[in-house]
Amino acid sequence: MTSPDPELSPRRAARAEAERLATAALSLPAATSSPAEGAPVEPVTRRQLRAAATGAIAMQPGAAPARADASAPVGGRSERSGPLSSVRAALAALPARRRRRLAITAGCAVAAVGGLLLIIGAVAGSGADATASATVDDAALTAAAAGPPAVPDAGLPVPEVSAVAATATPCDDPAFTAALAAGDDTAAIAAAGGGSAFRAAVASGIAPCVSLSDPDREWVVVNKQRPLDPIDYRAGDLIMPQNVRALEDSALRAAAANALTAMVKAASDAGAGEIGYLSAFRSYSTQQSTYAGRVAVGGVAEADRESARAGYSEHQSGLAVDIVPCTGSCGTLDDVAASPQGAWVREHAWEFGFITRYAEGRESVSGYEPEAWHQRYIGPELARAYHEGGYTTLEEFFGLPAAPTY
Ligand SMILES: [Zn+2]
Repeated sequence: MTSPDPELSPRRAARAEAERLATAALSLPAATSSPAEGAPVEPVTRRQLRAAATGAIAMQPGAAPARADASAPVGGRSERSGPLSSVRAALAALPARRRRRLAITAGCAVAAVGGLLLIIGAVAGSGADATASATVDDAALTAAAAGPPAVPDAGLPVPEVSAVAATATPCDDPAFTAALAAGDDTAAIAAAGGGSAFRAAVASGIAPCVSLSDPDREWVVVNKQRPLDPIDYRAGDLIMPQNVRALEDSALRAAAANALTAMVKAASDAGAGEIGYLSAFRSYSTQQSTYAGRVAVGGVAEADRESARAGYSEHQSGLAVDIVPCTGSCGTLDDVAASPQGAWVREHAWEFGFITRYAEGRESVSGYEPEAWHQRYIGPELARAYHEGGYTTLEEFFGLPAAPTY
């Protein structure tokens, strides 16, 4: 862009500049509509716009300098000091006929520039500098007053705005939904990207295909607000754990039973002593009897702190087991916390898919006093996420409300 010729008289120079501006503005669409073929869009546009603002002003002795202050309110800009008013003054110096012709030409040009700028502005976004912004404001206002620009036959250029990545949900993943449909919890968690990713998806609410109420799932959450569904649910794959001392004839779901066998062996191999168990699966009717017995001894309030009502017990899921320490004979549930077996379980149970479901100091969330003996199977991947995430309740792990009471 050349500077105005200093040899020209102000009046002639203003006229020449006004004509040049109109011509330049008219040529903008052709120059910028095919960026792939040559000149970059943004620099050309800004140069021409700055020239439109500052060139015309330079021809007007005493005119105020162009303001490039983007923070200045558009509506507050002075009629006398703005670049547009300078252009108008230059136009006023032309003969009436030429002025009319130029006015028509310039009007069309500004409208075209304004429309183009709106599009370029949308693409350029925050990259526009203060000068361009201030100029765009005027051009856009003028274009708005002049009405919408004519749409070329080829259509307006479509800005290429990269799509915002949708939040990925495992429910859109065929591998995940297939594993869910097949009842393969391990494969489903793997398809979701592991225990932490699965937990995050469920807790954030983006995985509605995962039900925390499905009693057949290792991730089922049962508490005083979340009864088994159906209320008399009974798992179909209950088996007795192998090579584990059972003080009651009490089974577990297959995966939990096998995990208990592995954990008991590992504890023994590590020198932590023998782990036996007292109670695992309890049916709805068994739980009715268990709870009624507690109520008979200590009343409802006391019973509710220690035992679940029928239909609300994790034991009915077949995924919970009450362990005891055994040294020759076996101790009681209350002996677990202070035993070597209990200490080992606190450190290593997660490696086998178990968590201590009712932790110290979490009664307000879990609804139960601490039970070092009550181990809940949620599978190795989720148990790892639980352990590594420092969780102490399954409610918080899955983003569920606390369940202190019925
Ligand atoms: Zn228990």
